[in-house]
Amino acid sequence: MGIATEEQRPAIVLPEVTLPEVTLRIGSTTRSTGAGTYHHINPATGVPDAVVPLAGAADVDEAVQSAHEAFAVWKATPAGTRARALLTLARLVEEHTAEFAALATADNGTPQATAAAMVGAAAEWIRYYGGWADKLPLGRVTSVAGAGGSFGHTLRQPYGVIGVVITWNAPLMSLAMKVPAALAAGNTVVVKPSELTPFSAMLFADLVREAGIPDGVFNVLTGGAEAGAALVSHPLVKKVTFTGGPDTARKITAACAQTFKPVVLELGGKSANLVFADADLDAAALHAAFMAFGIMTGQACALPTRLLVQDSIHDEFVAKVAAIAGSFKVGSPLELDTICGPVINQGAIDRIEAMVAQARNDGARILTGGTRLGGELADGYYYPPTVVADVDRDSELARQEVFGPVLAVMRFSDEADAVALANSTDYGLSGYVWTSDAKCAMRVVEQLETGEVVVNGAPNAVAERPFGGIGHSGTGNEGGLEGLEEFFWTKSVAYGTN
Ligand code: NAD
Repeated sequence: MGIATEEQRPAIVLPEVTLPEVTLRIGSTTRSTGAGTYHHINPATGVPDAVVPLAGAADVDEAVQSAHEAFAVWKATPAGTRARALLTLARLVEEHTAEFAALATADNGTPQATAAAMVGAAAEWIRYYGGWADKLPLGRVTSVAGAGGSFGHTLRQPYGVIGVVITWNAPLMSLAMKVPAALAAGNTVVVKPSELTPFSAMLFADLVREAGIPDGVFNVLTGGAEAGAALVSHPLVKKVTFTGGPDTARKITAACAQTFKPVVLELGGKSANLVFADADLDAAALHAAFMAFGIMTGQACALPTRLLVQDSIHDEFVAKVAAIAGSFKVGSPLELDTICGPVINQGAIDRIEAMVAQARNDGARILTGGTRLGGELADGYYYPPTVVADVDRDSELARQEVFGPVLAVMRFSDEADAVALANSTDYGLSGYVWTSDAKCAMRVVEQLETGEVVVNGAPNAVAERPFGGIGHSGTGNEGGLEGLEEFFWTKSVAYGTN
């Protein structure tokens, strides 16, 4: 497939966005050739719009060598200088909000209505870790000299080169959740964004340089699975941090196991949203609908994609959620009143259609949505917010991630039933609870088998709180002190004092 010709006219015409040239960024060099190419397709129009160079093993080796050499420089850079550079980067990202928002739309169809807020969130993450860079928790005293004793302390040290492999759903946010923490701790990075979303990383790389971060500290390799596999298994890559799906995570874990390389895995989810009868139902309904559909059109890992509702309020509450979801405008991501844009590609449409069809066969009821949109949206990948009620607890839709705008609704009888149902998948990323009973909230929070729980609409993905899953949702953390600690290894030191 080639780049769109003059004759190929999409039904939706997007205003001009100047797409950056996609290049490999290795040390001080940029180049537009690798081991192959990929044609990026704009999900809003279905039209190819850019050629993405795919890094090969030789490019990966060069980038890792560059990061390895830069490690000596960055590690020796005064902490205050590192902090100032990251804080400058945060400011620059904020100053380029409009450009990043436009690139997010070009990358993956993120609606403009939410794109700028996501850039703001990314800047907060960079600022947060910039703040840590000159206040690093570098160790603690473990023993003090006494009669026959020794003086001991720990020394936390950066690993060296970190391999960063990320997915396509929020490219800037994924960078912001991983890179600043790694750099604050003194590591250098080689980043492999998804080939599906190459643009945001280009502007980010420009700003990293403008912020005064030395060449080689941050390298970008656009590429696919081959580049990712070469990166994670490179002997000079000392730790890997990955965001993506469980199947890829298994391959990465197997590759890293060869040298016992540590890995952070941020994977998928099927997060439950428990709505008890005593909750603020209007607030809960708005939250349920917006979080399932209005954030990246349902394509984010931590979204509450299972809605569990107490029997006594089930019908009334679910009707409310379906009415709100049905009112969300689906369309061009560049129109400011669009809540749901396209999904990423035809593969996503196929997966969503198959899972909804299976749910229908399993006896579930589609309350709103349920059919791919045609007409002037037929060339892009548009699927409407779809609320599916009476989902069988053991069905595919109840247990597997859709990664699209499909909400699976189930009912529960009491607190014990709600917790059992919430804990009945292999995933363990996020949990959501709505109740006005503080004691119930505390009991449920304690029992949910997830990496995070948010109660009564608290915000997600804030920099100061650790975020990470258990089970098939992964291992390790991003965010908070825990996210910083992922980028140190600990040396235990003792001095004989007699
Ligand atoms: P994916 O696993 O297919 O791809 C993710 C990245 O891995 C891409 O950059 C890809 O090129 C690379 N890759 C593929 N094969 C590789 C290999 N063998 N070795 C190294 N790298 C390889 O994931 P996806 O389908 O693009 O993303 C969707 C998944 O990501 C969903 O499951 C979603 O829940 C998850 N996700 C998780 C989080 C989180 O923070 N927990 C955030 C966003 C998305």
